[in-house]
Amino acid sequence: MQIVAKSLLAALALLAGAHSVAAERPNIVFIMSDDHAVKAVSAYGNAIMQTPNIDRLAQEGMRFDRAYVGNAICGPSRATMLTGMHSHGNGFYSNEWSGPFDGSQQTLPKLLKAGGYQTAVVGKWHLYSDPVGFDHWEVITNAFEQGTYFNPHFRSAAGVEETTGYVADLVTDKAINWLEEARGSDAPFFLIYNHKTPHRDWMPGPEELRNWDEGARVPEPPTLLRDLEGLTEARREARMTIRDYMTDNDVKLSQSKNFTPQQQALWDGAFAAGNRAFEEADLDGDDEVRWKYQRYIKSYIGSVKSMDRQIGRLLDYLQEKGLADNTIVVYTSDQGFFLGENGWFDKRWIDEASARIPLLVRWPGRVAPGSVNTDMVQNIDFAPTLLAAAGLAPQTPMHGMSLLPHLGGDGNIAPRDLYYHFYENPGFHGVARHYGIHTPTHKLAYYYENDEWELFEFASDPTDQVNLYGRPGQEALTAELKQRLAALRAQYAVPETDPEVPWWHGPVIRLMEQLMKFM
Ligand code: CA
Repeated sequence: MQIVAKSLLAALALLAGAHSVAAERPNIVFIMSDDHAVKAVSAYGNAIMQTPNIDRLAQEGMRFDRAYVGNAICGPSRATMLTGMHSHGNGFYSNEWSGPFDGSQQTLPKLLKAGGYQTAVVGKWHLYSDPVGFDHWEVITNAFEQGTYFNPHFRSAAGVEETTGYVADLVTDKAINWLEEARGSDAPFFLIYNHKTPHRDWMPGPEELRNWDEGARVPEPPTLLRDLEGLTEARREARMTIRDYMTDNDVKLSQSKNFTPQQQALWDGAFAAGNRAFEEADLDGDDEVRWKYQRYIKSYIGSVKSMDRQIGRLLDYLQEKGLADNTIVVYTSDQGFFLGENGWFDKRWIDEASARIPLLVRWPGRVAPGSVNTDMVQNIDFAPTLLAAAGLAPQTPMHGMSLLPHLGGDGNIAPRDLYYHFYENPGFHGVARHYGIHTPTHKLAYYYENDEWELFEFASDPTDQVNLYGRPGQEALTAELKQRLAALRAQYAVPETDPEVPWWHGPVIRLMEQLMKFM
């Protein structure tokens, strides 16, 4: 009898335990890197490099293959992540001229905090105003909110802190320090763990500098030397070719870094001999483009590797402390990046290379390990999804929708079109303003300053090479897509006119671009 009672008690305890786990709200770690293209995440296959730690999230969770941002530029993408709103809904249209982010509006961290979560943001912020809605914030800071790769400054409620070390390592130290504190409370936590890497000027960390292999060659994209003649004026007039706009600083031929002597020695050990060989070889034309591409892409890869290792350290921490089972971990980037396609670097375009993002979600017990989702999803969905995961809802409607049905793998997901709108012109790289639509099968873009259109088919042309707009046989499809684009603009109430930009902004940017060539 006693044994039965004991067993019964044990069973009840188990049930109670199971119940409390089920009712326990998940912790959330949201990892956003900067300019990390899908092509440089090995979980996506055919990658230019290996990212073993980021890949763990795909192996243990879900990989989204059709995830996009609505405006492929740093600050606006981050504002969308925080608000679940497209740029016109949150007011942050541009890094350069739309002013500081308005932290008084509804945001994900504020709603989670009000809902009982402990909240923190560590690392890249790029919204100029101080973070609102966080119990703790430590963001990298300098004049353009980019921070530096080595010895970055961090801004917090306590002021500005000067540090020594590599940015990915320091951001991770700070994230883990906060998690140590957060573990002391019963309340679930929400941590935004944002990396600066691999943003321009693509500086690898110490270990990658030590292992730098000047002779190694990364395969060139087939369009590295593409002739842009015959394309739209928007494409021909953009200022983002490796050939003409990649600077000596970008390719490590010059540097004005705030290194310690030890860091300087590592840097010189990696690049000095290669720089001398380059000067002696006196390359020009296509040969010089190829050389610059190698320096660029290998630096980019080194920067990603430095970050990937640190992400592994954070995932290990969650595991070791028993937090992994009840923590949602999201990995994404604020947009993609051109890695030499069309001869370009940078982002901004509606193209797959630029508007598409890596998106991996690990949620043990909820998301099947190794699952793949091919539905159309967008960065407007992050906030509604994480709120829903926490059992909360927005107070005022957001543009995005919860992806919980996708994550559970049991939802009937209706096909969906995504809206895209890039505003930052005048701006660095001179990419014309455009809006457009991503459908599961096509994209249609309208460059409204130039009155030019582009139409690309996804399955046969995944790198947006062949503009079908205006070609015979495309009339019906084009008309339909224009209608769907108009419907999206109506759905999101996109204003007919854009914000005013001061007349002097364009000339100042062009001057800065010229000056950067001599840095
Ligand atoms: Ca970015």
